[in-house]
This record gives sequence, C-alpha cells and structure tokens, in this order.
Amino acid sequence: MAILVLGGAGYIGSHTALALCEAGRDVVVADNLETGFKAAVPEKARFYQGDIRDREFLDKLFETEKIEGVIHFAANSQVGESMKDPLKYYDNNLCGTKVLLDSMVAHGVNKIVFSSTAATYGEPERVPILEDDKTDPTNCYGETKLAMEHMMKWVSNAHDLKFVALRYFNACGAHPNAKIGEAHNPETHLIPLILQVPMGKRPQISIFGDDYATPDGTCIRDYIHVCDLAQAHILALDYLVNGGDNNVFNLGNGVGFSVKEVIEEARSVTGHEIPAKVEARRAGDPAQLIASSEKAKTVLGWKPEYDDLHTIIDTAWKWHQSHPNGYEEA
Ligand code: UDP
Repeated sequence: MAILVLGGAGYIGSHTALALCEAGRDVVVADNLETGFKAAVPEKARFYQGDIRDREFLDKLFETEKIEGVIHFAANSQVGESMKDPLKYYDNNLCGTKVLLDSMVAHGVNKIVFSSTAATYGEPERVPILEDDKTDPTNCYGETKLAMEHMMKWVSNAHDLKFVALRYFNACGAHPNAKIGEAHNPETHLIPLILQVPMGKRPQISIFGDDYATPDGTCIRDYIHVCDLAQAHILALDYLVNGGDNNVFNLGNGVGFSVKEVIEEARSVTGHEIPAKVEARRAGDPAQLIASSEKAKTVLGWKPEYDDLHTIIDTAWKWHQSHPNGYEEA
C-alpha cells in the first residue's frame, strides 16, 4: 500500500516524499503546483497534479491508488499574506481539508498526519512551549491551522479516522544532496532572505525590530532542519499504523537563536559580511518561540540530527548556491 503526500512538491512535502522513497516506501504525490514545483517531486514517486478542493480529483486518486495513510502539506503558509487575504486561507486550508476528509471517510482511508504550526500558540505564556499550553493565534494562518486540528478531532470522534498534528517551529535548511531546498515566491523567511545577500540578490538584510524583551533585542526562534521534520512525519505515520491514538506534537530543537545570531552564523558560513539594517517590528511577531519537543522524542522516538545552526545554514547555502533561481531554469 502507498503513502499519499499531499503538497509533496512543496518545501517540507518534497523532503518528506524523498525521505519516504529513501526508506523504501511506495509513495504517491499530489500537488496543484500553485506554490510547489514538479522538479521537487522524487522520481520514484507517482505524481498527480490536482487540488484538494476538487472532490472528483481526490475520489479518483483514492480509487486508483491503494492508500494506507495520508501526509497532508497542501496549504498556504505565509503569515503576512493570511492577514491581507484571510479568505484565501480559509478556502485552501480549511475548505480544502474538509473536502479531503470527506473523501478519505468515503474511501475508508483512516490515517492522516498533517502540518500544523507554532503559530497556533500565538504569544506564548512561557518557553519552552508544551503541547497543552494555551493556543491563541495572533494571525489568520495560525487560526486556520488550529481550526484544522479541531476539525480532525471532531471527524475522528464521528468516524473511523486517526490523526497526528505536527506543530513545526521554524523550518529551515535543505537536503544535504542540495538537489531540493526552499523556494518560495515571494520569499519571506529569514534564512533564505539572509542568503540572498551573499548571492548578490539583495544589498542587505532587514532586522524587524531590536527592541524586544530578549538579550540582544531581536526575536528568538527555534530553527529546525527540514530533513528532521521529514523524519518526524514518517515516525508519526508509523505511530498511527501501529495503533497510536490522535495526538499533537511540537517539532523544534528546543534551542532559540535571535535574528542577530542567525545573521552572524550566516556570515560565518558564507564568509560574506552580510550588511544588516534595523527596521520596524513586523506585525504579529511574538518575541520568543521555543519548542519543547520532549513528547515527540518520547512517544515517536524522534531524534533530530541537525541541532547545530552552522550545519543547518550550510545545507541551505549549498542549495541556494547550486540553484540560484530555485527550481526555475536560469
Ligand atoms: N525576520 C527579520 N527579517 C527578515 C525576515 C524575518 O528580522 O527579513 C525575523 C522575523 O521578524 C522573525 C524571525 O526573523 O522574528 C523569523 O521570521 P520568519 O519569517 O523566518 O519565520 P516566522 O517566525 O515568522 O515563522
């Protein structure tokens, strides 16, 4: 039986699809290619282009392929965009998941692992954050992910369906083979934006606020390598296959780095001075987000391999250097 990776042409989806193929699993990828890239899909995976809001597409897929479980990445994920266009997020993230669950229930596909986010917590009351800490999103993206978690809970209550929600902290890095990596358009994330400076694509990096209540005044985040995230999805699916119950897990390294520390590390990786300029705070940014991932380690047996920021940035740097235009032809 195969594993269906929805959104498998995107950043974290493509790394998970590859990790599954590398583990010898039978993999089916579906993606609407709105933000994903066909070139990111592993050669060994069977690819279907389509949208999760298209019930006919999903029904046909579940009739054609024998699917053991679904790993669901097919969503929009930009905080800023979600504030400007909230209905886009409700449509894709929530309505899309509703259509998907309808189709899964109709076809007796009863296991799903999906991307949630640290943005479900909003401004944390304490760090490191534990899974049962208060959830109170400060942006629409986090709100739709939390609503997806709730939808799964009620559907599971009514039907034969089990789910695992994985709340990622700051996904970063690239596969060490440098053949797949992060490619967003427009790019909004800190590490790829910093690396655009030594790539000659921007003159400097902006620091969004240096007056936060942190040691150097800049925001602190927990950066977790995309290959470690990929492994967590495989472990979570195996957990469900082995009879595990519905669950929610944080995925982070449990160590925070400030924006200034990340820039400094990128200078060390690239050997470039990377000029930085302090600008106004970005709306909706909590001062600190650091995960406690003890639950994922204990229950899933997850062991992140990339716990060193230098190596994490180095994998991203190798990807960007070898793909200056991402997946687009030069
Ligand atoms: N950030 C920054 N300059 C940038 C992009 C991001 O200072 O050009 C900061 C941002 O305010 C946040 C941190 O870097 O504190 C990580 O932002 P990112 O967008 O990568 O991830 P998020 O934490 O929003 O998921």
